[in-house]
Formats: sequence, C-alpha cells, structure tokens
Amino acid sequence: MGRADLHIHSDHSDGAATVAQILFRARHLGLDVIAITDHNEIAGAQEARRLATRWQLPVQVIVGEEVTTSEGHLVGLFLKERIRPLLTAAATVDEIHRQGGLAVAVHPFSAWLKLFDCGGVGRLVERLQFDAIETANGNITEGWSNAWTESYNRKVTHLAGVGGSDAHTEVAVGQAITLFPGTDVQMLRRAIYYKTTSVWESPWKLGAVADFVRNHLKGKMDLFGAKGGAISQSHAI
Ligand SMILES: [Zn+2]
Ligand SMILES: [Zn+2]
Repeated sequence: MGRADLHIHSDHSDGAATVAQILFRARHLGLDVIAITDHNEIAGAQEARRLATRWQLPVQVIVGEEVTTSEGHLVGLFLKERIRPLLTAAATVDEIHRQGGLAVAVHPFSAWLKLFDCGGVGRLVERLQFDAIETANGNITEGWSNAWTESYNRKVTHLAGVGGSDAHTEVAVGQAITLFPGTDVQMLRRAIYYKTTSVWESPWKLGAVADFVRNHLKGKMDLFGAKGGAISQSHAI
C-alpha cells in the first residue's frame, strides 16, 4: 500500500516548517507522496517538487493549494496555477478541474475550525463536483468531525475518502494519511477515481501536541492573518 499525506502547510503560508524540513520528515516517515497545500499559495509546493527531484528523494510531491472560498476551505490537488481566494466554492471547483486537478472537500464539518472562520464547505459537498472528501484530518481538534464526515460519506456522498495531516509543524506531518494501492502519484489518482483509498491516523504524541500548542502561542499559525485561512477581501488578489 502507498502512503500519502495530502494536506500540509509550509512557511509559504501559516506553517512553521520549511519545505526542506517537510521533505526530509516525509522521507524519514517513508511516505511515498505528499501534497503541499498552503493557504491561497502554490509557490512552496512548486519549490518542494523541484527540490524532491533535484535531491532525488523517494517522495513525490503534488502541487496543491488550500483555497479560502467565500463558502469555506477546500483543497485543489495537481494544480498548475495559483487559484485566487474568495471565489465561490463552485467556481473554485470548476477552476481546479479546468487545470486538470482534483477537488477535495477538506474538514467539511469541522466545528472547531469554523470558530476561527476557517471551516470547510459543509453540506455543499453534496452538490458540487468534488473528487474526494477528507475523512481523516490530522488536527488534534478533529476527532469528532472526522467520525461524522466518515459516516456522512458512507451514507450520503460516496466519494473517495482521503487523509491529510493538515500539518502546520514538521512533527505533525504524517499525522493522518491516505493509503492507496500502488506507490506513485498516478496510482494515487487512479485510486481516488476508483474510490479504493483508505485512511489512517496516528495517535497524537506528546511532543507533537507540545509543538502544536507552542506554535499557536508564538502566533506562527497566524490563523487571523493574511497568510492564514481567514482572509479579508483586501487580501484576495
Ligand atoms: Zn483549512
Ligand atoms: Zn489546512
């Protein structure tokens, strides 16, 4: 089974880790594929893909973006160009597909992130053309909403379930992952298409919890800033 972490933030948005730190952490964990999904930015993901090739790392990098739409966060994978924030969720999904990418409804029912104006698209996931739904989000706050999303997907949406750490620190990489038959990005895409993915979550370790809290306190996660998920109209372009 291949292992992919499909939701990682670098210091190109509100993450604390550099793309190099993320790449080496992914190699250390033996991940086959990672997606860097910075808020409203793809420069870090593009850099990670270049470095992985140059350093011949056994980790393939997907260029992704967590887009702040006017109706909540969603992730585009396999992007060629940055998508600007604050379009509607439907227009954002269309733009992802126009670029040949896949649209993922991340943390669609997160109650915690919604408090910070960083929630997902909620029940819009039923109406829009999503390719996958994040049934395992690695944030320590998401246990209940992961369980809810998993059951909702089983009963209502029937999309490919994927896992991503939503890591904002180096140690959180790999906290939640997607398992798929195969080892490379093409096989991962196929698995999403045929809905043969499954998810796995690691129990939170004390060090990772401490890091999560420390980074919150340092303000590195910048949840309310221009680089974070909450974004004002003036930062949209
Ligand atoms: Zn988010
Ligand atoms: Zn995220």
